[in-house]
Amino acid sequence: MQVIDPATGATIAELTPASAEDVRRAHDAARAAQPAWAATPVAERVAAVRAFRDALERHADELAATQTAETGKPIAQSRGELRSVLGRIDFFCDHVEAAIADEVVDDRGAMTEIIAREPLGVIADISAWNYPWFVSTNVVVPALLTGNAVLFKPSELASQTGQHLVRLLHEGGVPDDVVHVLVGGGDVGAALLEQPVDGVYFTGSYATGHRIALAMAGRMVPVQLELGGKDPVYVADDVDVAAAAEALADGAFYNNGQSCCSVERIYVHADVHDAFVDRFVDVVKGFVMGDPTDERTYLGPLSRPQQLEVLEAQVIDAVEHGAQVLTGGTPVEGPVGGTGAWFAPTVLVGVDESMEVMRDESFGPVIGIARVADDDEAVERMNDTAFGLTAGVFSADEDRARGLLARLDAGSAYWNCCDRVSPRLPWSGRRDSGIGSTLSVDGIVAFTRPKAYHLRRP
Ligand code: NAD
Repeated sequence: MQVIDPATGATIAELTPASAEDVRRAHDAARAAQPAWAATPVAERVAAVRAFRDALERHADELAATQTAETGKPIAQSRGELRSVLGRIDFFCDHVEAAIADEVVDDRGAMTEIIAREPLGVIADISAWNYPWFVSTNVVVPALLTGNAVLFKPSELASQTGQHLVRLLHEGGVPDDVVHVLVGGGDVGAALLEQPVDGVYFTGSYATGHRIALAMAGRMVPVQLELGGKDPVYVADDVDVAAAAEALADGAFYNNGQSCCSVERIYVHADVHDAFVDRFVDVVKGFVMGDPTDERTYLGPLSRPQQLEVLEAQVIDAVEHGAQVLTGGTPVEGPVGGTGAWFAPTVLVGVDESMEVMRDESFGPVIGIARVADDDEAVERMNDTAFGLTAGVFSADEDRARGLLARLDAGSAYWNCCDRVSPRLPWSGRRDSGIGSTLSVDGIVAFTRPKAYHLRRP
C-alpha cells in the first residue's frame, strides 16, 4: 500500500495493509483485554489519555508535517488542527468522570433507582482523512475513557497519522491490546465489520455510510454515522456585507473546501447580492495557492485526486444549466511539479437546486452563490437538500436569525459564523448527514449503555 503525497503524486512511503487474519487477531486481543481496562479506575484511564495529549503537544511539529505530507493540507492548517485537538481531548478528560458516574434517580422510599453506564465492549472506528486528528479523537478518546477497547481503521489517505495516534496512546499508557490500528482501504473496513464488535462509529461519505448501515443491519449494536453535508448559509439584507463575504469565503475554502461543514451553498438577499459577490470574489482571488509545506499557503492540492472529476463535472453541469463562473472553474497545474490534483478556487453565480453543484457534496474549492428575494425563499431553498449537517444565517438581528435557524433542518445552526465545531456542543447530522452525536457529553455517553438498577432494601 503506497502513501502518496497529493501535492506531487509521488510515493512517500509504503505500508503493509492489515490482512483479514490481522483484523481477527486484533479483535480477539482487544476482546480479551477490554474487561481489565473497563475495571481500571477512570482516573487512571484519564491519566493515560492526558499523557497522550501532552505528547501530541510536544510532537505537534513533526505530526503536522506528516499530516501535510500525506493529505496535502497546508502546514499552517495542520498545525491549527493539532492545536485545537488538545482542547477537545481536555474536554473529554474533564467531563468523563461525571458523565459516566452512577446517577441515583430515586431513593425516597424502600426502592433505590440508579442508572449506571457501562462500556459497550470492543468498538470499531472507521474514519476519514480530511481532519484526521479531529475525527479520530472524537471517537477513540471518549471510547477509551469510558472503558472500551478500540479497533481503529484510519482512512487510507491518513494512515501514518493513524499509526502515530495509536503509538502515542500506547506510549501514554493505554495497554497495547486495548487500542489497535488497522491500516488499509475499504476492504479492511469491511473485514472489521465482520468481527463481532459491540458498536461501529463511522466518519465518511454518505455512500460508504449507507453501505456500512446495510452491512450492520440486524446486528443490534449501535451504528453511528457522521456523514457529509451540503451546508447552506443565508446572508440577509441587514449585514456588514464585506465582513460576511470575508467570513464565508474562508468558510467555503478553508482546507480546500474539504470539510464536512464547509460552506457549500450561499443564498444572498437580492438587495446585497451584487456587493456581496464582488467582495467574495476579491477575497477568493487573494487566496494563496502553493506548496503545502509553505507557511503562507492557504490552498493546497485536493487530497483525493478522484475529486477533480467530480468538481469539473459539477462546474460543467452548472454552466450548461445557466450558471456563470466568476473565477476558477478548471483544474490547474500544481505549483510544485509532479502529477498532483489541483483545482482553481471557483465561484459560480446564477445557480439553483436543479444543478449538481447545489445538490451533491462538492468537498472541494467550488461554491455556488444564489440570489433570493426574501427570508422565506432562503429557508425553503436551504432546506431543499437530502443533507442536514449545518446551516447558517448572517444577519445583524438576532431574533430574525434565530427565527430562521429554528426552521432549518440541520444538526448545527450558526448565527454570524460558519465551518465551526465546539467540543462542548453535540456534533450530529440529520437525514443523509448521519445519525448519532460525537462531542459534548452526548458524545461521551454514546460509548456506553445504561444499566437500570432497581434496588429494594430488605
Ligand atoms: P469515505 O466514505 O470514502 O471513506 C471513509 C472510510 O471508510 C475510510 O476509512 C475507508 O477506507 C472506509 N471504507 C470504504 N469502503 C468501506 C466499506 N465498504 N466498509 C467499511 N469501510 C469502508 O470518506 P472519506 O473520503 O474518507 O471522507 C470524506 C467524507 O467524510 C465526506 O463526505 C465528508 O463530508 C465526510 N465527513 C464527515 C464528518 C462529520 O463529522 N459528519 C467529518 C469528516 C468527514
